[in-house]
Amino acid sequence: YDTAAAAVLPTIYERTTAAAMAAGAINLGQGFPDDEGPQWLLRAAAESITDPTYGPNNQYPPGLGLPVLREAVASHQARRFGVRLDPQHQVMATTGATEGIAATMLAFAAPDSDVLSFEPWYDSYGSIAALAGARLRTVPLSAPDFRPDVATLVSMISEKTSMILLNTPHNPTGTVFTADELGQIVAAARKHDVVIMCDEVYEHLVFDGVQHTPILAVDGAEDVAVAVSSAGKSFSVTGWKVGWVTGSAELVNKVRGVKQFLSFTSGPAYQWAVAQGLEDDRGFFAENQAALQAGRDHLAEGLAAAGLTPYAPQAGYFVLADIAEVTDRPAAEFCLDLARDVGVAAIPVSALTLGNEASADLDRLVRFAFCKERSTLDEALRRLKRSR
Ligand code: PMP
Ligand code: GLN
Repeated sequence: YDTAAAAVLPTIYERTTAAAMAAGAINLGQGFPDDEGPQWLLRAAAESITDPTYGPNNQYPPGLGLPVLREAVASHQARRFGVRLDPQHQVMATTGATEGIAATMLAFAAPDSDVLSFEPWYDSYGSIAALAGARLRTVPLSAPDFRPDVATLVSMISEKTSMILLNTPHNPTGTVFTADELGQIVAAARKHDVVIMCDEVYEHLVFDGVQHTPILAVDGAEDVAVAVSSAGKSFSVTGWKVGWVTGSAELVNKVRGVKQFLSFTSGPAYQWAVAQGLEDDRGFFAENQAALQAGRDHLAEGLAAAGLTPYAPQAGYFVLADIAEVTDRPAAEFCLDLARDVGVAAIPVSALTLGNEASADLDRLVRFAFCKERSTLDEALRRLKRSR
């Protein structure tokens, strides 16, 4: 894995979407819903731009973001998860979680340091580590249940370690870290003075009654952990790019120091609308969760019928499937052929790993998105079955 090259190539998501469009393939690669988010939220965004009673929301907001969004994030985290945050100092709006991740890593991942994470990971972790001049070191999450090997992660902490990057619920495995797993990592981070960044963008997309534990709900996390989240997944508006960083005033202030020179501040109009949604989701979170869970089951069943071995996730947008029963070729080649010859685009998990021997088992896995209309999933499954 060439982290420097990965920082300049178009991402695996963009390349897959471009390949899908060129081949006329159904795109189960990049994770975005093919519906538009709730109408009332879309109308709130339009009002926020044009209705002076709600705005004006078209000029620079404060560097930390619109106060109404910071207050809504704080009250939502308190109501839903019992996490108390001071909206004045402990919440900062960002341009999507992506900017929150970049600003947090650039604040804490010192050049030449080690950044520890699990793999597969969300692609920007590897690339921002490279841009920061730090080295990503990983522990694989393995099939069938993709539980984190916390003891191995903790054993890798040394005086060179600057950060631990967590992602729960996890993309692409769907693993929801338990309070106990998070507690062990927080204890180790405190002991070694390491900063944790926890990416929680799938916080609302959890299935089968599994409970999401935010990092800031863990005892002792407040001194060492920064959480990153966003509205994209929670409200099915991935293009809005409204994210936020939360944590202690001291840690958030350090992230603010970097963010101010990445974007200075992020667009207020969608922030205002997201604040309305966080204050009252009008049942959308539960509705979306149920629809996604049904999509997960439908896709997993169809992939199994097409001869693959799917692993149904606890959360998120994706099913991982093992391709060993249908081919002995690497997943990256399988995915190229799948888009071109079968007309279904998916992501090889190997694009989200360091490609070391330790993660060789992950090379047989392909990621399929189920955050799509039933008719889209059905057409993809028809094509997959026909190709057997
Ligand atoms: N983290 C994870 C784990 C993701 O899957 C994504 C993609 N939505 C992001 C961060 C980026 O989120 P945003 O679109 O809000 O920048
Ligand atoms: N989060 C989405 C995914 O994992 C897409 C993000 C992106 O395209 N950068 O597919």
